[in-house]
Amino acid sequence: MDRYDQRQIEKKWQKKWQEMKIYRFDFNDKNKPVYSIDVPPRYASGPLHVGHAVHYTHIDFVARYKRMRGYNVFFPLCFDVNGIPIEERVERKLNITRKDIDRHEFIKLCSEFAQKNIQTMIDQYVKLGESMDPSIYYQTDSKDYRRVTQISFIEHYEKGHIYKGEFPVNWCPRCMTAMADAEVQYMERETSLNTIKFYFVEKQPDAILKYHGIGRDEKGFYVEIATTRPEMLPSCQIVAVNPLDERAPWLVDQKLRVPIFEKEVKIVADESVDPGFGTGIVMICTIGDKEDLKWVFKYKLPLEMSIDEEGRMTEICGKYKGMKIEDARKKVIEDLRSTGYLVKQESLLQNVGVCWRCKTPVEFILAKQWFLKTLPFKEKILEASNKMKWFPEFMKIRLVEWVNSLEWDWVISRQRYFATPIPVWECENCEHVVVARKEDCYVDPTIDKPPVEKCPKCGGKLKGCEDVFDTWMDSSISPLYNTFWYRDNENFKKLYPMSLRP
Ligand SMILES: [Zn+2]
Ligand SMILES: [Zn+2]
Repeated sequence: MDRYDQRQIEKKWQKKWQEMKIYRFDFNDKNKPVYSIDVPPRYASGPLHVGHAVHYTHIDFVARYKRMRGYNVFFPLCFDVNGIPIEERVERKLNITRKDIDRHEFIKLCSEFAQKNIQTMIDQYVKLGESMDPSIYYQTDSKDYRRVTQISFIEHYEKGHIYKGEFPVNWCPRCMTAMADAEVQYMERETSLNTIKFYFVEKQPDAILKYHGIGRDEKGFYVEIATTRPEMLPSCQIVAVNPLDERAPWLVDQKLRVPIFEKEVKIVADESVDPGFGTGIVMICTIGDKEDLKWVFKYKLPLEMSIDEEGRMTEICGKYKGMKIEDARKKVIEDLRSTGYLVKQESLLQNVGVCWRCKTPVEFILAKQWFLKTLPFKEKILEASNKMKWFPEFMKIRLVEWVNSLEWDWVISRQRYFATPIPVWECENCEHVVVARKEDCYVDPTIDKPPVEKCPKCGGKLKGCEDVFDTWMDSSISPLYNTFWYRDNENFKKLYPMSLRP
């Protein structure tokens, strides 16, 4: 007998199985119960690694088991082809940024890049013996798929779930794009902790000097506040101290003057202040990090921003206006030192949120973004999670904790190119929004004409929206796409809801 040569024998059987179409879902079958698997579409940014082999093989076990148990198994071959990671690989490969070339030229390059990866991955799946069904193949950048994403947006819009608003968003000043919380990475970096003087507005009794962090000089009484971000001083809104702090009864409701900017801010008591950080008295600015956003909601602080979308200081920063964040920080520290406000400077290891793509520290800025309401649905999601069977159980806890941790609605717009276009046009004059008709989708508003010629409100010119969807707008509707929602009602009835989401 010849030696077993897996390269030849496996190829032979893989070919045979493909010809026999043994993994095919039978749409005409009337007898077998349907078992449908909402396969997580594999991201098309590169070849499979061993983790994918393990993960997709687990799913494959289920599909094969159910086939053997007599089910008509719906197990699509599919790929997720949208978003930043692909743009980033293309930019790196060609050593360009997407702004260097024409928008549609860039999209084409991304698409070609993804297509090559998909071919490699399909070969890998076949070699692994995965039994996904190519007859129900989809990829999320196809017009067919994006059409369904757009229709889901339009349905939400009609139900009042979509709004456009100015809102603080995680923002990378380098990539110039808003980011989901999940896209923010945390990195340790060394920075300086600057202790600075905030003078009291009112005269103080000498007795207050017995406390730490409080002092007096020729300019008057002051409290010492430690900050890593002195460039945020212009947007300082309040100062806070822990209510259990012995100084709290003296300090709460007093007013302080913000150094350099001479703005008056009030002191509040709040349990979330760590008495061990700096002097135990902290300044709250709009908005240095996500924690600050909690303060904004709790104390209804004005959303005055000191940093703009290019990572430069805004109007309210006076003479620092227009400076880059790092430069402004240096200059503010220099000025604090030369005017006697700086008490001391220490180095500090700090955990900062950075852009997962380019590692630039993430800022919060106010940006016009599209939002999908999620907060009103928290209860419904938790209810639905109770109706599902979870394997293993702890994955349910993960979902519950995630839902409970949501603090604002979902920012669904991105200032990127390679993704599903948001199907709206806006009036250049009055900002009135014209949404695409469902029957016209798929549309690309940067190319296609709006359903009406002029703004129905003021007759102004309509401009196609250049924002695209967060890639999760596409991936999250895979159960709708798979079950033929807005494609084939008969199949929708047969397939919805799906049996398994691995
Ligand atoms: Zn970035
Ligand atoms: Zn108008």
